[in-house]
Amino acid sequence: MQKVIKSLENGTYRKIICGAANTSEQQIERMSLVYSLCGADVIDIAPQREMYEAAKRGISMAAEIVAQNPELFPKFKPSLIMKSINVGDDKHFRKANFNLAQCVQCLDCVKACQSGALTVDDGKKSFNQQKCYGCAMCVESCQHNAVSMVMISDNPFATGDFPEKPDAIELHTGNSSIEKVKAFVELHKNVLNKVGIISISVDTMRFNAAELVDYATALLEMFDRKIIIQADGVSMRGGSRKSSTLPTLSAALVLFNAGIDAYIQLSGGTNHLTQKFVDMTDLKIAGIGFGTFAKKIILNYIEEYSDDEFVSNLQQITAIAGKLFE
Ligand code: SF4
Ligand code: SF4
Repeated sequence: MQKVIKSLENGTYRKIICGAANTSEQQIERMSLVYSLCGADVIDIAPQREMYEAAKRGISMAAEIVAQNPELFPKFKPSLIMKSINVGDDKHFRKANFNLAQCVQCLDCVKACQSGALTVDDGKKSFNQQKCYGCAMCVESCQHNAVSMVMISDNPFATGDFPEKPDAIELHTGNSSIEKVKAFVELHKNVLNKVGIISISVDTMRFNAAELVDYATALLEMFDRKIIIQADGVSMRGGSRKSSTLPTLSAALVLFNAGIDAYIQLSGGTNHLTQKFVDMTDLKIAGIGFGTFAKKIILNYIEEYSDDEFVSNLQQITAIAGKLFE
């Protein structure tokens, strides 16, 4: 825990976001394995117990590999696991739903999907719901109104599906009013008090600057400790351009100028160029969360390799993944 706090203080905090709706245990386990070897402070996952166990397996496997060959993966960190939790109507907690009667099998959605959830099987679209993390790229690509998004409702507070001593949680505020967030925090304060690290994800695109500052200020008042504010920009796009990072960076600038006393972490549109942008500013960013882009750059290995192939090619895979943290 203290090492993560130190990373936040130093501005070197790195979080890997597997997707709040991603329920593919294989993807979560392999992303956790690779990115803990690369030095991720935190692995952010969907709230269900099975996803927590998958992340733990990946991180434990990484620790075993490092114990045998410490010189091969010198950046390894035993990442903390962060559970993402939906406070309200947050777009990260949804999955695609296909209307087969409308579908003409044009396969445009397959080309748009960056998560391996849509593939071609025998000339037709095949959908793996577990790998879907709700980005809605398929909805945008479909000219036939054959796909829509549906919210999923797994809330570990409601189901009791929560680890004994949670490392970290992230509350996704989505479209929630500040009153709704406050009521949620109040209702679950006994659990939240036991959590090591609390992060609040704010969809900064829904606010103008003044509204964003008011919202963040009200969030700080709910906690008697320093929290992370994830200044979410254009999320779940996996953009590789310079411009992808600008919305989250602009939001961070607003929060810094207002003197918001939180660890400000970038997310949404983050990629291999984000740290370079940060370096051009004098902002004391606490760190960066990488989601779609982090998965995209190693997706072929995650999806196509057997367990043995994946482990025996870890040096090559971590060399690609690790560039994100440079
Ligand atoms: S883009 Fe729409 S019509 Fe085309 S395969 Fe996908 S769901 Fe079917
Ligand atoms: S494009 Fe996004 S929403 Fe659609 S199936 Fe793929 S991961 Fe799910």
